[in-house]
Amino acid sequence: MDTNKHNGTILIAEDNPTNMKLIKDILEFEGYNIIEAHDGKAALNMIRKCKNDIDLILLDIQLPEINGFEVIKLLKSNDTTKNIPIFVVSAHAMESDIKKALNAGCNNFITKPINLESFVDKINSFFLHAIQR
Ligand code: MN
Repeated sequence: MDTNKHNGTILIAEDNPTNMKLIKDILEFEGYNIIEAHDGKAALNMIRKCKNDIDLILLDIQLPEINGFEVIKLLKSNDTTKNIPIFVVSAHAMESDIKKALNAGCNNFITKPINLESFVDKINSFFLHAIQR
């Protein structure tokens, strides 16, 4: 068995098809199960439905229907979803946006365009530490 494979389920909330494919492909290659959501409302519905199976949420901020900040607020205000880790993946790299996302309760902030190597490192090390806990 390849010890680099970390089994885990990641929900990707991303409206840009190119970004979705890129992130999905690289994470599936790393051995993760992926759930896709293409807008904020679909993400919330999927998370509410699959909350016990989702280990990590990768959340875009600029999303149709419900934006990423609102998604974080709604998830954090519900006892059944507030403990699911969230990494924001966004081009909104202004310090105020990063602060806003972290204050709202997200666990990490990854800026776009993503650097694939460091992106994968961040996800893998998150799962490695989650498993060791
Ligand atoms: Mn977007």
